Amino acid sequence: MSIHILSEQLASQIAAGEVVERPASVVKELVENALDAEATAINVDVRLGGRQLIQVADDGMGITAADAAVAFRRHATSKLQSVEDLTAIGTLGFRGEALAAVAAVSQVTMVTRAMGESAGTRLVIHAGHLLSRETVGAPQGSVVAVEQLFFNTPARLKFLKSLNTEKRLIDELVTNYALAYPHVRFRLTHDGRLTFQTAGTGRLLDVLVELHGVETAHQLLEIKSQAQAEAQTNATLPITVTGFVSPPALHRANRQQIVLFVNGRWIKDSKLTYAIIEAYHTLLPVGRFPMALIFLTMPLELVDVNVHPAKTEVRFRYPNALFGAVQRAVREQLLTDTPVRTFDQFVPARSWHWQPPNYSSAVPLPATPFDGQLAMPLSRLSATSFGSTLADDAHAEAEQQPDTPNLGGERLPLMRVVGQIGAAYIVTDGPQGMYLMDQHAAHERVLYEQFMADWAKGGVASQGLVAGAMVQLPPSQATLLEEQLPTLAKLGFMVDIFGMNSFMVRAVPALLAHQDPSKALLAVVEDLEKEKTPLQERIEARIIKRVCKTAAVKAGQTLSLAEMQALIQQLEQCHNPHTCPHGRPTFIHISLSQLARGFGRT
Ligand code: ADP
Ligand code: MG
Repeated sequence: MSIHILSEQLASQIAAGEVVERPASVVKELVENALDAEATAINVDVRLGGRQLIQVADDGMGITAADAAVAFRRHATSKLQSVEDLTAIGTLGFRGEALAAVAAVSQVTMVTRAMGESAGTRLVIHAGHLLSRETVGAPQGSVVAVEQLFFNTPARLKFLKSLNTEKRLIDELVTNYALAYPHVRFRLTHDGRLTFQTAGTGRLLDVLVELHGVETAHQLLEIKSQAQAEAQTNATLPITVTGFVSPPALHRANRQQIVLFVNGRWIKDSKLTYAIIEAYHTLLPVGRFPMALIFLTMPLELVDVNVHPAKTEVRFRYPNALFGAVQRAVREQLLTDTPVRTFDQFVPARSWHWQPPNYSSAVPLPATPFDGQLAMPLSRLSATSFGSTLADDAHAEAEQQPDTPNLGGERLPLMRVVGQIGAAYIVTDGPQGMYLMDQHAAHERVLYEQFMADWAKGGVASQGLVAGAMVQLPPSQATLLEEQLPTLAKLGFMVDIFGMNSFMVRAVPALLAHQDPSKALLAVVEDLEKEKTPLQERIEARIIKRVCKTAAVKAGQTLSLAEMQALIQQLEQCHNPHTCPHGRPTFIHISLSQLARGFGRT
């Protein structure tokens, strides 16, 4: 094939691919344009996860009749004049690519009226070709409607994820921008249904309440420190770090709730995300992540936003100084607001089920018998109780493994309980030596088999809640939960939709009768987030495992001799007593000959 120049049409489609990867990228570009136009209200309406329609309406400054069509040309921008401007970009857009890119791969209608003009302009553009242009009456501001996205790039269309994934990405985008611009009123609908809105009060906390509910929002700690970052030059850089972070008692299963902004731009930066996680070092259970909303403000010259067409990656002039500044700011806030609890404040929970800690009868513990990674703040194990124990999270990886096959189904040997160590392991004496049982893993196995037996019989016992428990979720999680409500109902969770992104838990699986119902539901939702495959059986299996894990006795709970004996008896009844439902061993066997060898007797 001879070398030839690509047609203008093909060239712009290729270029568009870098800017517009999926529906959420269109939302991003349009919302950024509205913010650049100093809108005070932005409405985002989406149909079919953005495949059918994405419409963004703003009350910003609008585009003049003379410029309206030009805005859709490639490299057309009002935000950049000279190459010097590139070193200090104060707007979200600057590449002049977005509208052209969006228009190249969809059918766009724009109605806009500029401030100070008496009439508006209506443009219709299909696959980059201007189809019509007329003068219309319109309020000040712009409405851009994008229909039939990727209709002319079937390859892209094929790579789109499920409807709900695309919806979730859009939710994430709009909610994050709402957080960064609390003085702007945001409104998001999916298929005509209001999903999320903010009042534009200018108070970040109001947006946080909208997103996470009052209870969670008010637990968040505000970072007020004006961290001064030390650059390599030893000069002090004027970088400020503000925002909110979760206290150690509040944590999530993934990094998704760690959100970063630089000068009002939402960015992704794995190093800074890591800096935040590092700030929680030893404060969080293994495998759990904080929530954080961090705003970095710095002189424009210190950050290069012109790295990628999507503008979510940026380069910092002094990355290490910034890393330190963020980590310090978060850590300092954590230490001021929540002094790390010491071991002697630890209250071992005595029951198999969660109970609110009773500090009046606190039993001081000796120094921790745990080592290495087990040397976590014990205080958290009993009190928070939930999905956050040593045993379960230290092996987050193991969770991915399927249930292990029956290991021969042989009966467990007769065991005599000797005692408990580290409030986590049961030591038993058996015919072949010593058996060291992981109390959490063992109990999980017991509950799992009981649950599966009930499930097979068609009846999972459910426990009604007298008062019900409210749960407020961010829109993305709310969508996930709503989808799975029928499945959850089969498994004993009766959950009603209770207004926008709010749910009322009416009943939980009987196993969870003594657990905090909202936390239990939240853990299930977090698991659903992790589940990539839409296979319903896998989702069911995951929920069941989560229920059992939540209900199971935790590491850190002191057990009585009778409780330990009961646990061992129940484990003996199991078909697969050797592993927990996630495939980890329930006990370790140390034979008499191993012991003899260890002591040099042979
Ligand atoms: P960029 O944002 O990088 O400048 P775009 O292609 O997104 O490039 O937009 C081109 C131009 O169109 C912008 O520079 C701006 O002048 C104008 N524009 C786009 N959207 C809006 C809007 N919602 N309100 C006012 N002006 C807009
Ligand atoms: Mg733009």
